[in-house]
Amino acid sequence: MHAEALSALGNLFGDRLRTSLETRICYSFDATGKKFLPDAVVYPVNAEDVRQTVLLANFHRFPVVPRGAGSGFSGGSLPVQGGVVLSTERMDRIISIDTENLYAVVEPGVVTETLKLEARKRGLFYPPDPASLKFSTVGGNIAECAGGMCAVKYGVTRDYVLGLEAVLGTGELLRTGVATAKGVVGYDLTRMIVGSEGTLGIVTRATLRLIPLPEAAATLLALFHENRRSAETVNAIVAARVTPSAMELMDRTAIDCVQALMPVQLPEGTGSALLLEVDGAEGQVAREANLLTEVCHAHGAIEVRRASDAPGREELWKLRRSISPALRRVAPVKLNEDIVVPRSRLADMFAFLSDLSDRRNVRIVTFGHAGDGNIHVNIMVSGTDADEARRAEEAVAEVFHKTVEMGGTISGEHGVGISKAPFLEMEVGPLGVAVMKRLKACFDPNGILNPGKIFLDEAAVRV
Ligand SMILES: Cc1cc2nc3c(=O)[nH]c(=O)nc-3n(C[C@H](O)[C@H](O)[C@H](O)COP(=O)(O)OP(=O)(O)OC[C@H]3O[C@@H](n4cnc5c(N)ncnc54)[C@H](O)[C@@H]3O)c2cc1C
Repeated sequence: MHAEALSALGNLFGDRLRTSLETRICYSFDATGKKFLPDAVVYPVNAEDVRQTVLLANFHRFPVVPRGAGSGFSGGSLPVQGGVVLSTERMDRIISIDTENLYAVVEPGVVTETLKLEARKRGLFYPPDPASLKFSTVGGNIAECAGGMCAVKYGVTRDYVLGLEAVLGTGELLRTGVATAKGVVGYDLTRMIVGSEGTLGIVTRATLRLIPLPEAAATLLALFHENRRSAETVNAIVAARVTPSAMELMDRTAIDCVQALMPVQLPEGTGSALLLEVDGAEGQVAREANLLTEVCHAHGAIEVRRASDAPGREELWKLRRSISPALRRVAPVKLNEDIVVPRSRLADMFAFLSDLSDRRNVRIVTFGHAGDGNIHVNIMVSGTDADEARRAEEAVAEVFHKTVEMGGTISGEHGVGISKAPFLEMEVGPLGVAVMKRLKACFDPNGILNPGKIFLDEAAVRV
């Protein structure tokens, strides 16, 4: 970056501009494990700081990469072309919670769990619950349209964003959307920015819908011999007209990983597990939990465990929550894909993945949000074996092709970033890509915001 540009940023930010190597390293990576050093890091405290940064970037032509907690799985917050990382960590205020009209107004650096807890204190519920909720930010969740366990019943981040304030690539401050339950005036610019991965605008404020907190919940852990049975059960539950607030499937590979970390008492022959949760009014929860138990047994469950109190429910969640830490022990690098297939094709996808693992000689651990058809496919690699890395890359490409062939999508919640950029056109087609590029040019004509994302032309090096 040019010295003049750094000096202008220094005038604007004072000691909220950092250029030391130590600080730049801290902002050079995300959950993909890839590293790209920024030239500088700035810490805005309000929308005007963000606006001035983008205006300077247009004048001096440097990239601006917005960053929340850096927990993304697709490289979205990585400064792949250098420039300035704009960290939202000091824009972390919950500005208001309106308990009559049921919405919250927040800054982008608010940690998701903080908002959920503040809403809960008022008997309200902000449903989006990415597993990263203890550290990921609302801004990052909006930019990736994060999902989570309860998306099957409550939807994803997009479904809770009523309106936004965002600085466009031009430095203009745009306000979109409403603070009312409905609103259809003009094009839906709010939805345009949600999921745009920091490439169209930097969110400086969000108006988020809240709903009443469910009164009660129950958790069930159903254990099966094989994935086909749990996948059939998922479809049978939907056909029984129950919508659980979580339907998580863990296959044998995931269960084995957890068992290697900490033994969990499971019956002989367990090869697949379904973690189910229902919530709502007390009576309804009991009724639905009984119905789910019946459906699981009718589809060959070896055992169904159930809990309604908080400690018992937490105990049942242990198996699911332990997968991520357990995976870290299996191999240092994981290619974590988040494909979605129509629910009715889940069993076929599991069979395909098992065959792929044998054919390509790569270890694949599979689990995920089965209720949405959203499976986390983790290809585990050592990071030191070039041939294994190649086989893993080829396996990923096969998974994506199969997903699209089945009528699915290559990302349900992690976004494109740099990881899936080479596969964008395969899913949306050349016209889809061309229209997206035209929109990008409209929001950010000089390509200032998060360049090198979504539209990367050459194949990304992933390992
Ligand atoms: C252990 C773990 C579990 C996870 N579980 C889930 C899960 O269950 N569901 C899920 O969906 N994801 C999950 N993720 C992925 C990740 O946490 C989400 O994508 C999250 O939304 C990223 O938030 P962040 O604050 O870390 O954003 P970052 O990683 O910092 O940034 C993500 C993207 O958002 C952009 N961005 C950040 N702030 C702004 C802003 N204010 N304006 C515009 N753009 C912005 C960045 O430029 C980047 O493109 C998980 C990650 C980890 C490490």
